[in-house]
Amino acid sequence: MQEQLKRYADLAIGVGLNLQPGQRLVIRAPIEAAALTRALAASAYDAGCPYVDVIYGDDQLDLVRFRHAPADSFGEFPTWRVNGMIERAEQGAAFLTVAGGNPDLLKGQDPERVATTMRTASEQSKPFSRGYITNMRVSWCVISAAVAPWAARVFPDAPAQEQVDRLWDAIFRACRVDQDDPAQAWRRHIDTLEARREYLNERAYTALRYAAPGTDLTVGLPDGHIWKGGIDHNEQGTRFVPNIPTEEVFTLPHRGRVDGTVSSTKPLNYGGRLIEHFSLTFAGGRVVAVEAESGAEVLEKLIATDEGAARLGEIALVPHSSPISGLGRLFYNTLFDENASSHAALGQAYSVCLEGAESMSEEQLAAAGANASVTHVDFMIGSEQTDIDGVLADGSTEPVMRAGEWAIA
Ligand code: ZN
Ligand code: ZN
Repeated sequence: MQEQLKRYADLAIGVGLNLQPGQRLVIRAPIEAAALTRALAASAYDAGCPYVDVIYGDDQLDLVRFRHAPADSFGEFPTWRVNGMIERAEQGAAFLTVAGGNPDLLKGQDPERVATTMRTASEQSKPFSRGYITNMRVSWCVISAAVAPWAARVFPDAPAQEQVDRLWDAIFRACRVDQDDPAQAWRRHIDTLEARREYLNERAYTALRYAAPGTDLTVGLPDGHIWKGGIDHNEQGTRFVPNIPTEEVFTLPHRGRVDGTVSSTKPLNYGGRLIEHFSLTFAGGRVVAVEAESGAEVLEKLIATDEGAARLGEIALVPHSSPISGLGRLFYNTLFDENASSHAALGQAYSVCLEGAESMSEEQLAAAGANASVTHVDFMIGSEQTDIDGVLADGSTEPVMRAGEWAIA
């Protein structure tokens, strides 16, 4: 296990962040992932990092707050933490997030308080998240750690003492840590993603058309949209891989040109609540009807977060044959589930997916089709029954995906 953790940590630091000698590192991790966090710090110092800051999160402490804090205090936020991260970002630090919280943590808590807490966190974090992360100014990477409550959720059928090990196995497989040379395997995989996105960029479709059971959706793509995926570059031009694992190529839809109905192919876990078998109907880019077998009120709340939460900010293509899809589990974790299936996201668009976005005002971004919101929530819309066509500038169409697999060379 120690050896596997070291290989995983080396992959995150060496390929994920591509940490440079002399570069500082900030790690955010659940307290249960201390063993991995120490392996990450060791790998970073070995790579010449002068200082590793670790900010541990504690699910139990969050629960203590929900149970004991005054009812009107859920708009509180530790702004100093954001300021500290901005200070590090200004020094050129890299940022690693270890995901692995309990997906059911806030189940049963007052949805109003959950919504206030999440909205406050995204709003207050904006100077950092918008100013350094979504625009790729700094190197960042999100990985996962197997922690007990999450493992129990993914493998409820396994004996309790085996759940965490089984989740670690799944993580190592999905992240190609089980292969002889994980770094080499990742470089090959990233090259494939790069070839796909270059093809899509060259075709410059004006829209994508999705057809699947319960889905008949046209997603307009703005002029100057850019397909991204796999690798990115920070302000200094250093390559990094924002997500490990990652299987997607993605871009931004036009916030005003999404029409039709799309059905989810996997449940969506939002704020500790599960939204199942849902569909969204769009007109002129905006959600005009919502249906869900369960969790409809959570979905309605999400969509009502702000104006942009009712519009799409991302669409992503993932083949049904992705290794994560092959694991055949719902992981209740976006990093895994979004890489098992083609997906879309309600809310904030990645401005890096739009040509010239860095010099545009908020009004210009909106006019160009880029959506803005404090939220960004991915939901899965791909399956082995999904067909996707690309619409070319002359109105003709060509297959992009058939039966959930790439239809392009
Ligand atoms: Zn995505
Ligand atoms: Zn997303």
